[in-house]
Amino acid sequence: MSISSDNELETIETKVLIIGSGPSGYTAAIYAARACLDPVLVCGPQKGGQLTITTDVENYPGFAHPIQGPWLMDQMHDQAKSVGTKIIDSLIESVDFSRRPFVCYGDGKKRRYVAQTIIISTGAEARWLGLKSEEEYRGFGVSGCATCDGFFYRGKKVMVIGGGNTAVEEALYLTNHAKEVLLVHRRGHLRAEKVLQNRFEANEKIKPIWNSALVEVIGQENPKFVTGARLKNVVTGKEEEVDLDGIFIAIGHKPNTSIFRHNDDGGNKGERGANAATNIAMDEEGYILTKPGTTQTNVAGVFAAGDVQDRIYRQAVTAAGTGCMAAIEAEKFLSEHHNKISP
Ligand SMILES: Cc1cc2nc3c(=O)[nH]c(=O)nc-3n(C[C@H](O)[C@H](O)[C@H](O)COP(=O)(O)OP(=O)(O)OC[C@H]3O[C@@H](n4cnc5c(N)ncnc54)[C@H](O)[C@@H]3O)c2cc1C
Repeated sequence: MSISSDNELETIETKVLIIGSGPSGYTAAIYAARACLDPVLVCGPQKGGQLTITTDVENYPGFAHPIQGPWLMDQMHDQAKSVGTKIIDSLIESVDFSRRPFVCYGDGKKRRYVAQTIIISTGAEARWLGLKSEEEYRGFGVSGCATCDGFFYRGKKVMVIGGGNTAVEEALYLTNHAKEVLLVHRRGHLRAEKVLQNRFEANEKIKPIWNSALVEVIGQENPKFVTGARLKNVVTGKEEEVDLDGIFIAIGHKPNTSIFRHNDDGGNKGERGANAATNIAMDEEGYILTKPGTTQTNVAGVFAAGDVQDRIYRQAVTAAGTGCMAAIEAEKFLSEHHNKISP
């Protein structure tokens, strides 16, 4: 790694640039640093990633008792730093992957990163409804992840909002724990695949509430927790209150990949201009496509790990696992390409 400054432009050269500080980014950093690659990690707008906005984490291996999400991410940060990662509290605003070394910019183009390999770990965000009460009770009975939080609702009554595959999968999963699962959907029928609809209809624990929208999360203070929901029938306009213990918002996820999209309409073009070679291949929802069984993207030397390339599992441990894979693959790529900082 080397740092130089010229006319207010700081240039940081590195063998491995890791974009993002969630479990995948920090794990990639730990492995890359221990392979003596002097990685640079740029934290982004949410230092520590998604786990910083949750409380109890009970499924990350190694801990017999619940741990706090922000605490776990602090541990990962400290471990990545202690093995030699340079951690930068900033974000990447534009990228140019048209040739190697790759170039990324941050801080209004005042900082330039020149990297032999890139590990994209920018994660994804659950989509939320945007209600004030939903935000207030997030982590206190409002969740975006049944796999993560379903266990806390054993024998309780919960509600799932949505009507697509995600909502039906979440509702079905929650029937393993909850005594009753209400599924609230704005329309009169599901958008989910037929096979999921069949499982949904066959499950006696799930009760649909059609043509309805969540308009308010109702809860209590001390201890802070959800106690109910106010629903509005979108056809009749009638409102009703339902008593329950938890609400799962399941209206999809959005991968953080906008900076890797090179649009013809003048979007993110980088200093060398847009061309087909700069495009990172993504699916229709913006998840980065990787070669099966690897973290390799369609651009040689650019790897993707964690939720940004995972529309299925979306867990801290899988993110960490693919972060490890990305660092090992970057190390292999560098050794095959003479391990140089300059071209
Ligand atoms: C409320 C909640 C509770 C959860 N509970 C659990 C749980 O109990 N157990 C579990 O296993 N999983 C849980 N998850 C899921 C888990 O948090 C994710 O699967 C995991 O964090 C994904 O890690 P990641 O490294 O892919 O990305 P993320 O954690 O999403 O982190 C992405 C990182 O990229 C950075 N970034 C984004 N854009 C840029 C940019 N332009 N430049 C630089 N950096 C950028 C962000 O700042 C962030 O640091 C939960 C998720 C949520 C939202």
